[in-house]
Amino acid sequence: MRWTKSLITTLRDNPGDAEIDSHKLLVRAGLVRKTAGGLYSYLPLGMRTLEKIKRIVKEEMDRAGALEIVMPILQPAELWRTTGRWDTMGANMFKLRDRAEREAALGPTAEEEVTDLVKGVVGSYRQLPVTVYQIQWKFRDETRPRFGLMRSKEFLMKDAYSFDRDAEGADRSYRTMYAAYERIFARCGLKAVPVQADGGDMGDSMTHEFHVLADAGEDGIAWCEGCGYAANLEKAGRTPPPADDGPCPPFEEVATPGAKTIAQVAAFMGLAPELFVKSLVYSCDGKPVMVCVPGDRDVNEVKLKRFLGAKTVALADFGAVLRATGANAGFVGPVKPADPALRIVADSALRGAAGRITGANKDGFHLKNVDLARDTSIPAGGYADLATAAAGDACPNCGKPIAVKRGIEVGQVFKLGTKYTEAFKATYKNDKLEEKTMIMGCYGVGVSRTLQAVIEQSHDKDGIVWPASIAPYQACICLLDPSAPDAAKVADELEQALEARGVDTIIDDREERPGVKFKDADLIGFPVRVVVGSKGLANGGVEIKLRREDKSKTRIVPPSGAAETVAALIEAEMRG
Ligand SMILES: [Zn+2]
Repeated sequence: MRWTKSLITTLRDNPGDAEIDSHKLLVRAGLVRKTAGGLYSYLPLGMRTLEKIKRIVKEEMDRAGALEIVMPILQPAELWRTTGRWDTMGANMFKLRDRAEREAALGPTAEEEVTDLVKGVVGSYRQLPVTVYQIQWKFRDETRPRFGLMRSKEFLMKDAYSFDRDAEGADRSYRTMYAAYERIFARCGLKAVPVQADGGDMGDSMTHEFHVLADAGEDGIAWCEGCGYAANLEKAGRTPPPADDGPCPPFEEVATPGAKTIAQVAAFMGLAPELFVKSLVYSCDGKPVMVCVPGDRDVNEVKLKRFLGAKTVALADFGAVLRATGANAGFVGPVKPADPALRIVADSALRGAAGRITGANKDGFHLKNVDLARDTSIPAGGYADLATAAAGDACPNCGKPIAVKRGIEVGQVFKLGTKYTEAFKATYKNDKLEEKTMIMGCYGVGVSRTLQAVIEQSHDKDGIVWPASIAPYQACICLLDPSAPDAAKVADELEQALEARGVDTIIDDREERPGVKFKDADLIGFPVRVVVGSKGLANGGVEIKLRREDKSKTRIVPPSGAAETVAALIEAEMRG
């Protein structure tokens, strides 16, 4: 390929809306262009890498015995109503109507669609187990699309679904996919670590997420160096010792005008945030519930949802807070709320807590010397692990202090059990002709997100450093004087020799200064750069350099041996 025919446009400046390096580099290197907020077009360079990732995903799915299918993006509402998710998916799902007023969604995922499909196709145990997959565009109506392809409204996903006869089979399918995922990410040059995640209403340890550790990641991960425990902070368990503070004087009201947040009140009263009780009113399946956690902690909505057995959990609106407590957010607390029947639950670190500061359920006031057991109606069974783990908490596995790292989720494997197959009555006949429900698993890889995660994990101040397996081109020949016939001939022959050896090659044949070409080659991040110029040829060779190596580390090779050297370098890079 010739640069002058390749529609490559690099940008000198970072896009104004880019907050993280990989987003800046995606746009600056000319891989994608923003069409609108959360929507991107892939330019030829980006398309090449996307296709290479897709190929790796397909090869590994096929190797694992999964069968490729493709299902419509436009999914009828009836499918989603069968499981009740038409209502519970919330505003993240794009919903629309056709001309006959039939409701439909742009698929954010396809559990319903695939269960309905497989139900119609599979009837006998002889057809099981079966795993099907598709690589298809998915949609999510993000409140705030950001970080380029990381949190976009439209994204490419590989979604696979396994259907098994029994639990042991479902275990095998899960392990097969888990192993395939490890190979997929390794082949993409990604260090992705499996992390325990929350199984939602499916229960514990039924799911792993694959995360790329990066400071720009949106997910927090509890990480134990001691035993290797890794869990999404949404799930990471804590077993805090009870407070057992001992007796304290009766509570009294303190005026805290204008101080609403824990930090503000703590500063106003000159006390540490840990002495405060943070109280928030949630709407849980439509009913108000007050949740109390230590002042320096956050309420963990996933744990709250599970503890209450609720389907939906969200912060209550202003009116509901006022009705339940008699005050506005910032001044609410567990002592004598306006609604005496208000359900109150608390984090287990607050068991036996006394001498604490809480909101007074009266705007502009707090209470000090609150003893939760003495002064509130929190029942003994109302204490649970409801706060998010933080660095320094004891590892639930070995007790050593955990660290908190940031991660980008690039894949997830999930045991679904019979949630969907029961809803759809997706059954098969066993060898005794008895009707049995299929057992399901689902497995996703964020294909477009993986592309960006690789950049986030592999870049430097000059640009992207592509792994050879998914680089848009593996080698870039910087032709320094395109009009000099000797150099152009060497470049052409080298390109042909490289392509013959399976090395994707582009010749930078632009009439540009060498500095511009080197900068662009570094920005786009081709794994190998070969400099071909008349001056170098007169001195006996072409200059070969790996992108990931230091600038000083170049090899001068005679033109006749260049293809072999480059091919050997690429092969070594592919092996990692
Ligand atoms: Zn541990």
